[in-house]
Formats: sequence, C-alpha cells, structure tokens
Amino acid sequence: MPTRDEMWTTMGEDVDVLVIGGGITGAGIARDAARRGLKTLLVEMRDLAFGTSSRSSKLVHGGLRYLEQFEFSLVFEAVSERRILLDIAPHLVNPLGFVFPVYTKSRTSLLKINAGMWLYDGLSLFRSPKRWRQLRPKDIATEEPALNREGFKGAPLYYDCSTDDARLTLENALDAAEAGATIATWAKVVGFEHDDAGRAVAAHIECALTGERKTIRAASIVNATGPWTDETLSMSRATKREMLRPTKGTHIVVDHEKLPVNHAVVCFHPDDGRVLFAIPWGPQTYLGTTDTDYDGDPADVYASAEDVKYIIDAAAEYFPDHPLCADDVLSTWSGLRPLISPSTGGDDDEIDESSVSREHQIIVGSDGLVTIAGGKLTTYRLMAKQVVDTVARLLRLSGQLPESLERAATSRSPLPGAVGWPEDDDHRAVANAILAAGDALFDTDTAELLANTYGMKGIEVAKRVVDEPALAARICPTRPEILAQIDYAIDAELCCTVSDLLKQRTQLYYREPDQALGAVEAVADRMAARLGWSDERRSAEIAAYRDEVEASRRWRASWPPAEASSGA
Ligand code: FAD
Repeated sequence: MPTRDEMWTTMGEDVDVLVIGGGITGAGIARDAARRGLKTLLVEMRDLAFGTSSRSSKLVHGGLRYLEQFEFSLVFEAVSERRILLDIAPHLVNPLGFVFPVYTKSRTSLLKINAGMWLYDGLSLFRSPKRWRQLRPKDIATEEPALNREGFKGAPLYYDCSTDDARLTLENALDAAEAGATIATWAKVVGFEHDDAGRAVAAHIECALTGERKTIRAASIVNATGPWTDETLSMSRATKREMLRPTKGTHIVVDHEKLPVNHAVVCFHPDDGRVLFAIPWGPQTYLGTTDTDYDGDPADVYASAEDVKYIIDAAAEYFPDHPLCADDVLSTWSGLRPLISPSTGGDDDEIDESSVSREHQIIVGSDGLVTIAGGKLTTYRLMAKQVVDTVARLLRLSGQLPESLERAATSRSPLPGAVGWPEDDDHRAVANAILAAGDALFDTDTAELLANTYGMKGIEVAKRVVDEPALAARICPTRPEILAQIDYAIDAELCCTVSDLLKQRTQLYYREPDQALGAVEAVADRMAARLGWSDERRSAEIAAYRDEVEASRRWRASWPPAEASSGA
C-alpha cells in the first residue's frame, strides 16, 4: 500500500472517474468503480471519514421508524444491506440488541410495536442478526437494570447492528486502492475546468498540506461531498439552486459505569417525543442524537451546551438512578445529516437518476457532473452501485467506456479485514491468533481491540511488535491501543496527521479520559520520526490536535444553558 504522500505524488493526470469526497459514499463509489476496472481517483480534502461518516450513530440498521410511515421498500432495502455488511465486514459490523421500553404513558401501544417487530423481522426474510423477543416487567431488572421501571409495561428486544463508521469508510477506500484506485487524502478540489461544450472535464486539486496544485482530467466526475454538496455544486456551471437542508446531530460519550446499559435503549425525549438512543460502547456509553437546523461551516460542527442538556434530560427520564452531569461527559461529536431539501426536484437542465429511494438522489448536471446527495451509512454500498451504473451509462454515451468492465461484486467480496475471518464469527479466536502472532508481547485486551478494529489485518499489526518489541507500549496508559498501530496507520492506512490517528484510525479522542491530550506529544514524535517531519510541522500537528479538542469542549463555557436544544 503506498503511503498518503506516495499517493499524492504518483497521482496520474487522466482518469476514468474522479470521485470527490472520502466519506462512506465516496469510498463506496471508488471501491465499486475500481473493482469494475475503471481507472479511479478519490480525493478527500482532509482525512477519510472526516465529515459525517465518522460522526453518525454508528448503526447499521433497517430504520424501524419507516414502518410507521409504511415505507416498506426503504426498510427492505436497508435490512438487505445490513445482511450484506454482516457478511462482508463481520469484524466491523456486529449484532446489537435494542430494548424498546413501553410505559403506561407511551404514545404507542405494546401491541402495535410488537406487530412492527414481526414486520421488521419479516422484511429481513427472518434473517435478522437474531430473532426479536419480548421482555416482560419481571425480565427487565436483570436484562436492563438501569432502566426506569415506573409504569413499565414491556419491551421488545430486537436486533440491528453497530459498527465503526470511520473504519468502515477506511476499509472501503483501502479495498478500492487494492483494486487499483488512487486515494488522495488532504487533497481538495478547488475548481473545475469545462470544455467548449460546457462539460466538466477536469478538476483543480490542492494539497491541503503543502498548497501544491494539480489538474486532473476525468471522463466522469462524481460529487460525493455529503454536507459540502452545495459548495461543490457552486464550483460547477450546472446548478444554481441548493440541494441540501442539513441538520446537526450531536452525541455525548460517558463512562459505562455512569450509564450502565447492556443493550441499546430506544428513548423518546420527554419534551418533543424525538427518538434518541443510549448505546453501549465497550467501557463507554454514548447517547444521541439531537436534530437541529444548521447553516454554518460544515467543517466546524460541534456540540452546544443546549445539545448536551437535551441529551442529558432524555437520559434522566429513562435512567433516573443514574443522573448525568456535565462533568460526566468525556467527549462529544456532532455531524450533519446531508438531507435533501424538500424543494429539490430535477431542474430542466438536469436528469434525476433517483428512482429507488427517497433517502438519496443521483443528479446529473448539464455539465455532466454526477452528484449523489442524501443517504445513510447502512445503504452506502447500494448507493455506490447506482452511482457507478450512472457513470458507466454516461461514459458509454460519450464513447469513453473502456471495452469491457468487470463485475464489482461488492456484495460478495469481503472488505480487507474480513479476508480469512472465521465462518462462525468467533472474535475471540481471531484475538487469540493475533496474540500468538505477537508472541504475547501485549495484553489480551490489546489483542481483542486489534481483532475488532482491523479484523484479520490485526495479525500484521501484531507482527510489527515481534520485529520491534518497543511497539507493544500503550499509547495511553489506560487504553489498549499500542504504538504499533501508529506505524501501521502510516504504512498501510494512509494516515498522515496526528488528528487522523487519534480520531479516525483509533478512537482515543472520544474514549480516553483526557481525549489523548496527554499522549499527543509522544504520538507526534513517532509520526515525526516515521514521516520525517520538521520541528515546525511537529509543533503545528500538536497545536492542531489541541485546537480540535478545545473546539469540542466549547460547550462547557456556556454550561448550564438556559434551555435545552430541541428536535427539528
Ligand atoms: P461525508 O461523510 O460528510 O463525506 C463527505 C466528504 O467530502 C467529507 O469527508 C469532506 O471532507 C469531503 N469534501 C467536501 N468537499 C470536498 C472538496 N472540495 N474536495 C475534496 N473533498 C471534499 N446512517 C446510518 O445508516 N446509521 C446511523 O446510525 C446514522 N446515524 C447518523 C447520525 C447523525 C448524527 C448523522 C448526522 C448522520 C447519521 N447517519 C446514519 C447518516 C450517515 O452518517 C450519512 O448519510 C453518511 O455518513 C454520509 O456520508 P457521505 O460520504 O455522503 O458524507
């Protein structure tokens, strides 16, 4: 695998498909396109999954709420994709039980919810990760002891999946690279070039680390920039209107002992009835999300004090014996839902390619720019397939389609960490193999972390420790991550900044009690040594990471807020 700098340096000047945006959508498109044999370049202005794709609720789910709106085809589509992701990324997509408590004062009856559960399982053709069952009042004290029992009538326990959104994105990009794509991170599209007929034929790309610029000619250009969709469209000649009406969603992270949930708990906010989740996350629990309109810079989205209070208030209703306060909040994240504005429809000069789902739209501008907007993490693979089908059609029309295309087979081919994963999904067996590959030079919790993070590639991380035992040292004393992960991230995962490592390659920013501020110098030292950074670059990296943590804590300055933020 070339490093990020090698990717930038060797980037060709001509490609079949240029994908702009390294979130889950762009990474999925690059994977599909490269596997079909198209010469593909993916450019991402920061790190892979810098945008919404590292800030979701981290669920691969069918979207139970769509049943209420009789959107059966959307649910069917999502549960089918859930099944596929369980197969192609078993190390990253894991069954998670959801408890849906019903109280005497709940707006929906237990009977209606149970009917929904049968339908939900039925739409997955009874291939849910596990069959749902009913928890009765007498079960709840053992199954979910922290949950409020006053007026409790019962709760279906059903199954969806949890994931690591940032790594799911990364593995799609790595698979694209294995299939021949170039993946250039920290590379921003700053403008398009049009030919005499008005077609977008090239993009100007700027390296965000050095300011160097390149121009890449592309037979087809795809805009997969999520919340930045309108900004990218504004560089194109075709569209004058805005497609998105983004909303902000915030999550908070607390120690598991502060909110000890065994399953994801579905909560309705006492003020506005919006759905929130309390989700177990190993030694932590995270809760969210809010849903408020947002019209600021998509790169500067952070929790407000109102957001945090809104979430804490919902938790207080459901877990009265575990009241949370501001000091319990370890970290927060906020992301933008790239929702399609209700007014968006095909303009005269555009072709609306979307037919399958109202969750996303594929629009071909009059200059040929293909834009994919909206969507979910869960359905990214299907969306990517539809986009590449559109690209292939356009290339055929313009006579630029390569002679023969391969089948992408993205629904059958495992992601890189899943190659060799045991059929019985035994995470512990993989952790044991990783421990053995590392001559047991690190602890079992590290082996488990490596298995659950890298899948079978964890063996490669472990072997680095055998070559250099000092790499078995922990990055932060309280957490299982080890120094070998820094080297691996640089050599095999396109990591090139301290923030890439602490936020997207590991989750130390979210999980470590001081958000890894105590480790930032050591991480920067290792990266500086490996990447040949100057003292100035090393200091800038440390400062950038500290600024990032500071921004995520801005909400504390206005705590307590007068009011909680509301749902949209
Ligand atoms: P992004 O991930 O934002 O990627 C766009 C990328 O484009 C960014 O990385 C950005 O840096 C890059 N970019 C922008 N401009 C340029 C440029 N000029 N040049 C180069 N690069 C550029 N879905 C689920 O299925 N399950 C969930 O549990 C779930 N929870 C959610 C919770 C919240 C709070 C939110 C906000 C969304 C949630 N979603 C969920 C939806 C899902 O997360 C998003 O649909 C998905 O992540 C969007 O991915 P994307 O690739 O389209 O956008």
